[in-house]
Amino acid sequence: MSTPVRTRIAPSPTGFLHLGTARTALYSWAYARHHGGQFVLRIEDTDVARSTQESVQQILDSMHWLGLQYDEGPFFQMQRLARYHEVVEAMIAAGTAYRCYCTPEELDAMREAQRARGEKTHYDRRWRPLPGKKLPPPPPGVQPVVRFCNPVDGIVTWDDLVKGPISISNHEIDDLIILRPPAEDAPPGSLGVPTYNFAVVVDDWDMAITHVFRGDEHINNTPWQINIFQALGAPLPRFGHCPIILGDDGQKLSKRRGAVSVTAYEEAGFLPEAMLNYLARLGWSHGDDELFTPAQIVQWFDGSHLARSPAQWDPAKLAWVNAHHMKQAADERLAAMVQRHLAGRGVVDAPLTQLTAAAGLFKDRCATVVELADWLSMFYVPVQASEADLQTHLTPDVVPALRSLRDLLALATWDKPGIAAAMKQALAAHGLKMPQLAPALRVLVCGRAQTPSIDAVLALFERTTVLERLRHL
Ligand code: GLU
Repeated sequence: MSTPVRTRIAPSPTGFLHLGTARTALYSWAYARHHGGQFVLRIEDTDVARSTQESVQQILDSMHWLGLQYDEGPFFQMQRLARYHEVVEAMIAAGTAYRCYCTPEELDAMREAQRARGEKTHYDRRWRPLPGKKLPPPPPGVQPVVRFCNPVDGIVTWDDLVKGPISISNHEIDDLIILRPPAEDAPPGSLGVPTYNFAVVVDDWDMAITHVFRGDEHINNTPWQINIFQALGAPLPRFGHCPIILGDDGQKLSKRRGAVSVTAYEEAGFLPEAMLNYLARLGWSHGDDELFTPAQIVQWFDGSHLARSPAQWDPAKLAWVNAHHMKQAADERLAAMVQRHLAGRGVVDAPLTQLTAAAGLFKDRCATVVELADWLSMFYVPVQASEADLQTHLTPDVVPALRSLRDLLALATWDKPGIAAAMKQALAAHGLKMPQLAPALRVLVCGRAQTPSIDAVLALFERTTVLERLRHL
């Protein structure tokens, strides 16, 4: 029997969930689901100074919003310190790690001397035990770090799920610090904190992770991790390093170049399934398909067809994808989202039944929930058409017909057929055609010259609101 697939996402809680991390979370989740495996959430909070509880919450909320359910976790690295210490001690005993007592000043001097000799700076392994090597006694008062005995020779090679075979020579990398002493002001008895490259290996080992998807900024870390896995005798996961996401200017997607957090897209009225669709396609393909549901992503995502080159964030395409998912979304669901957006604008009394009917009528013309809320707000807040629209559509021959219509609407049966009949009657009485009357009516009641079928739209208003908006003719 083959090992069950287990993937994980391991964000650091130093900010919101970045789009790049959301994409690797999606790939990890989809890969696990595709294979009937498990997906684990781990919070890498060892950067104590920059990690916050607020960020943890944002990450959890964004994962929840995207629908990326994890089967285990969240695990917190800071709750696993004792385990890292246990592994470190075992490594020291096995001779695959050692204590290094160099002070920062000594390390500076070492690098300075290397630079002066024209060498690449590196740790010169002065505290690394070797058969026959005599180490000085530990200097008093210096809290040691623990370093990994990286192999001195040889090449680390792995077959990356995204990039294919990658090799890095051990000459390129030195004896990594895997554990730092507790900070000087830490309470007595505090444990030192492991570095990323070490904690990640212990965790991926303990959590039996079989496939690691992450951003390609970690490629240079992978050789260390592979060496540590091997020193521990732990099974190696497969690695897949996804290229970074570029902004629409071809530069790395960053805060300065627009929204990079999942939360910002939620607030801007994008649907989670559209985000998953767009993120999946950004770095992965399934034939020529551009539109898919989360279930299809799971069905098709088998770790192949991942792009090797960076993808570019395209807001127009995301809007197009979202518009498609808006059309597919249930009216009640959109209505509930619009209700929240409207409440944020101070419109607190918009009834769900009315919003549901209106969402059905308007969702086809909206790229986002915010656009839909913009439309539906006309039912609750006064509208103001532009001067240009008023001038174009409220012509002298139309105004008398609008007055008649107002009087007819005051008595009409208040539903679509009743309103349509009143409009017909007004048109006949004034010898006008629908394309003359309808835009003028829209401008006054809805604030815009184009809407879905006006009788259907009017039927969603309270009669009194429509009459009020036609009062000043
Ligand atoms: N905490 C790391 C990050 O957020 C995780 C990298 C990894 O997946 O190994 O970049």
